[in-house]
Amino acid sequence: MTPYRKFLLGLGLAGSLQLGACSTQTTTTDETMTAEQLGMAQAPSDVHSFAKPAEAVARHLDLDIAVNFDQKVIAGKASYQIENKAKGNEIIFDTRGLEIEQVYLGKEQTPTTFKLGDEKEFLGRPLIIAIQPETDYVTIQYRTTANADALQWLNPQQTAGKKHPFLFTQSQAILARTWIPIQDSPGIRITYSAKVQVPKELMAVMSAENPQQKNSSGSYTFEMRQAIPSYLMALSVGDMVFKPIGQQTGIYAEPATIDAAVYEFAEMDKMLVAAEKLYGKYRWDRYDLLVLPPSFPFGGMENPRLTFVTPTVLAKDRSLTSLIAHELAHSWSGNLVTNGTWDDFWLNEGFTVYFERRIMEEIYGKDYADMLNVLGYQDLQHTLEDLGQTSDDTRLKLDLEGRDPDEGLTDIAYEKGNFFLQNIERVVGRERFDQFLNKYFQTFAFQSTNTDLFLDFLRKELIQGDEKIAEQINIEGWVYTPGLPEDHAKPTSKRFAQVEESFKAWQSGKPANQLQTKDWSSHEWLHFIRMLPEQMSQQQLAELDKAFGFTNSGNSEVLAAWFIHTIRNNYAAADQALDNFLTNVGRRKFLVPIYKALAATPAGKKKAQEIYVRAKPNYHAVSTNTLDAMLK
Ligand SMILES: [Zn+2]
Repeated sequence: MTPYRKFLLGLGLAGSLQLGACSTQTTTTDETMTAEQLGMAQAPSDVHSFAKPAEAVARHLDLDIAVNFDQKVIAGKASYQIENKAKGNEIIFDTRGLEIEQVYLGKEQTPTTFKLGDEKEFLGRPLIIAIQPETDYVTIQYRTTANADALQWLNPQQTAGKKHPFLFTQSQAILARTWIPIQDSPGIRITYSAKVQVPKELMAVMSAENPQQKNSSGSYTFEMRQAIPSYLMALSVGDMVFKPIGQQTGIYAEPATIDAAVYEFAEMDKMLVAAEKLYGKYRWDRYDLLVLPPSFPFGGMENPRLTFVTPTVLAKDRSLTSLIAHELAHSWSGNLVTNGTWDDFWLNEGFTVYFERRIMEEIYGKDYADMLNVLGYQDLQHTLEDLGQTSDDTRLKLDLEGRDPDEGLTDIAYEKGNFFLQNIERVVGRERFDQFLNKYFQTFAFQSTNTDLFLDFLRKELIQGDEKIAEQINIEGWVYTPGLPEDHAKPTSKRFAQVEESFKAWQSGKPANQLQTKDWSSHEWLHFIRMLPEQMSQQQLAELDKAFGFTNSGNSEVLAAWFIHTIRNNYAAADQALDNFLTNVGRRKFLVPIYKALAATPAGKKKAQEIYVRAKPNYHAVSTNTLDAMLK
């Protein structure tokens, strides 16, 4: 038993109703049944949403909004087709920092009453709308406020082109409710259409069927026919252009960035082919990328049909594109089969990391994927040290009740999740595991799942009562126990073994410029930099810098790893580059360790605060929420 299982009790039909939300759209054959038919555990309720989907649930959204850059406000109407399952007299939506102006019932728009409940930290306020038993359509007229954490409004100076403002959203985990009143739970899926008015010199794109050209009116319409959870609602507005890569793939970016992006991501079509070969047909029609300005807080966000991606992977040598494999993999794990609550986040991310490495292996070979696994394992070890080996947050199945679900977005879900799946693959063999995964994606397509459902499926389809297999897979050790099981297999890499040899040679006195580093990729360099000792002399740092040009590297991964050493050892020659990096790049994965390294000494902390004041306008709330706490 785990503490979380209490949510499984006494829920009656709630869980299966949520799971059944899209069963009408799921093709079932003799071989595949819906989760409901399999009679599995009920889905737990979502402690991060006020909605009561078992009583009244949204099915389709018609969004009609205008984007005002002068006021930094989105205003308009969110109209929902709803199902009033309980035939009761209210439906509840999630809001946070929204101004609700008026609510109407039916297509004829009859005004109705509503109330906003008490504000709760992280969660915002429930919007409780009075409805009739027969109500099937509600319209909420609203506007966003300065507290819309999902939105980042960039002034022209913060873009690559420097001429036009830019806006993008980041809804995961529970920020969709800061720009749309919505039932903001990953266990609830909706289709949507949208009409978006923007300044006529700009273009709008969404996680939907998108325009490929600017029009002269600034009015854009969108259609998303596949049902998605709320955290995949996405909008971006700016001066952008589109260029195709393949028949089904292409790139949106600012004009100043588009050519570099087309070069960098030229292999995205190949990745799509590799992914389909592994886990079945891509279910979302087009797969495009939107390259954002550098303030984007994540590496990428898997908004369906249109992945949002950081420009920090534009390394000019296609060496950081595993990120695209990752976001593409989410088209199966996450977008198609979705974690039902944020406590099950590892189902989204662990699967996606596993799948990402398989795509990379398919395209670049096993030696390449091995490097990614070793780096991932190093990241995992750091996270385990940071959180503490016995912390409950190092279990795959989390308990985030009463906390911001963002706190669960650690490497545990990603890398521990991945290594758990690799362990299952090792036990049952790749062929059987691939068959199992294909069936899993087919069975749960366009539905939400959770840890119990997955584990039941695993027991039924793979373990099948075999005690030896059960013991080797070790569900209890991986999913419910903190840290890593003692007998886990550690990943190794042939290419890194060569890096380690060069490193040892340098430590034994061979000059840096005579080391064997020919044809090293970003990953080899990263491994090399991570091996550097904590204490280094100015002379050593200068020698490496002169030989390999780390401080002036155009590669964000190399820079971010290098700065940790230059900060620790007060290597002043890198200060200006560090300042530039921090004031331009908003990707949280880089910012957090760098600011942390700075904040380790009183003088460094002062410097960090000084840079942070200048840099903060370039960071999204997702990043500043983490950094504010660290630097206060
Ligand atoms: Zn991911």
